[in-house]
Amino acid sequence: MQYDVIVIGSGPGGYVAAIRCAQLGMKTAIIEKYSTFGGTCLNVGCIPSKALLDSSEHFHNAAHSFTTHGINLKDLKVDMKQMIARKDDVVAQNTAGITYLFKKNKIDTYEGVGSFVDKNTIKVQKSDGKAETLTTKNVIIATGSKPTALPFLPVDKKRIITSTEALTLKEVPKKMIVIGGGVIGLELGSVYARLGTQVSIVEFMPSIIGTMDAGLGKELQRVLKKSLGMEFFMGHKVTGATTKGKVVTVTAENAKGEAVQWDADYCIVAVGRTAYTEGLGLENIGITVEERGRKIPVNEHLETSVKGVYAIGDVIKGAMLAHKAEDEGIYVAETLAGQKPHINNNLIPGVVYTWPEVASVGYTEEQLKEKGIAYKAGSFPFKASGRAKASMDTDGFVKVLADKNTDEILGVHMIGPRAADMIAEAVVAMEFRASAEDIARICHAHPTFTEALKEAALAATDNRAIHI
Ligand SMILES: Cc1cc2nc3c(=O)[nH]c(=O)nc-3n(C[C@H](O)[C@H](O)[C@H](O)COP(=O)(O)OP(=O)(O)OC[C@H]3O[C@@H](n4cnc5c(N)ncnc54)[C@H](O)[C@@H]3O)c2cc1C
Repeated sequence: MQYDVIVIGSGPGGYVAAIRCAQLGMKTAIIEKYSTFGGTCLNVGCIPSKALLDSSEHFHNAAHSFTTHGINLKDLKVDMKQMIARKDDVVAQNTAGITYLFKKNKIDTYEGVGSFVDKNTIKVQKSDGKAETLTTKNVIIATGSKPTALPFLPVDKKRIITSTEALTLKEVPKKMIVIGGGVIGLELGSVYARLGTQVSIVEFMPSIIGTMDAGLGKELQRVLKKSLGMEFFMGHKVTGATTKGKVVTVTAENAKGEAVQWDADYCIVAVGRTAYTEGLGLENIGITVEERGRKIPVNEHLETSVKGVYAIGDVIKGAMLAHKAEDEGIYVAETLAGQKPHINNNLIPGVVYTWPEVASVGYTEEQLKEKGIAYKAGSFPFKASGRAKASMDTDGFVKVLADKNTDEILGVHMIGPRAADMIAEAVVAMEFRASAEDIARICHAHPTFTEALKEAALAATDNRAIHI
């Protein structure tokens, strides 16, 4: 079979690339080694984790804030089997949706491991031992990533687990150690802490969500400690873990170099993700992955060193986020169609779906200082928001960073209710190179959480916030 484009991997990068290629009239095929489409994001990432975050949030609110609202419930308990079954159903609906979209766009699908024979020939190795060979003008590699393994701490998938297993536990653990204070560790830690597990986060760095604006991590740590009783062991270097029966013992060195250890029912290793290129046969077309992170090198058009072979998503440089992978999929499809697409890598929003949610776009204060850019900052706390008082979501703040001379917005960082959705306003404003005063002068509905962004913009403009 001769194709214009073959996409290898059906995660958010691959499936979006395939659909856009088909929309643009290219004869398109996609190869996926698993039996369901959607990759990490739909099967074991964004979607199932958000399903469990939503369920656990309902339980936590019912247990802790319903009585304040004047709602009394009796005999509240978690039905873990049902919670996981609902999550599985959400995943099934989403992956089935991709199958439908492939059919609708007349994209040929192949189940098996795709690998390069040469740059125009792809072999599909099926699980029953059979193989098929396809030819193509172009290839888009979208093979994603896998959880990063610690060589001194082997995952047994029973007690020492990754995010994948953490999405299917059959019980609410009494105690859980999460290695890594990044997005995935904090989200999954929140799920179980809300259900009643004593969760301890062990992190090597001095702060959680270390790549985001420093104020966000500080506030998130304070709130997770206060509202969920989560414990944080910062500056701790994990040295190993052993299991005995149902107990896992994690050992570490604290900042003073002293040995410490914790016992728990489960230990989640959430220390990041590594690009996945195994079995792709990159050596057959002369592509070498980077030593650190195993990423595939690409140029500014996301083309590899081999003409006609592109790579997108987690398998290349940049943020490991589903929406970044999707945008890159569109970018390559439109480039292949002769268009001139554009991605602004500085305006890819980052979100942490804890409660309060954390969201960020553009430069952090730390980056602006490092670059020597003169800026002004305006903040607004949710405790001064009428909407937040009504819903008892008064933790957190919005911070707007603007150029000191031109007032152009350079970064927006927020922690608070619905920050994940609110950040979109900041992204749009920044894509249109709005000033802080632009947001400050735009009418925001009352009462909404978005008023906090307007107030922070007012504060940045001329210290003109009205409600503080
Ligand atoms: C627990 C968790 C929660 C997350 N939450 C979020 C979130 O809320 N928001 C967000 O933006 N991101 C989130 N992410 C990250 C997000 O899932 C990834 O950034 C995204 O899935 C990357 O997309 P991708 O298309 O590059 O690769 P993937 O989604 O990893 O897909 C790659 C696909 O390629 C297939 N494949 C690999 N090799 C081959 C081969 N040789 N032949 C055929 N098929 C192959 C794989 O089976 C896989 O299906 C989360 C991740 C995890 C683990």
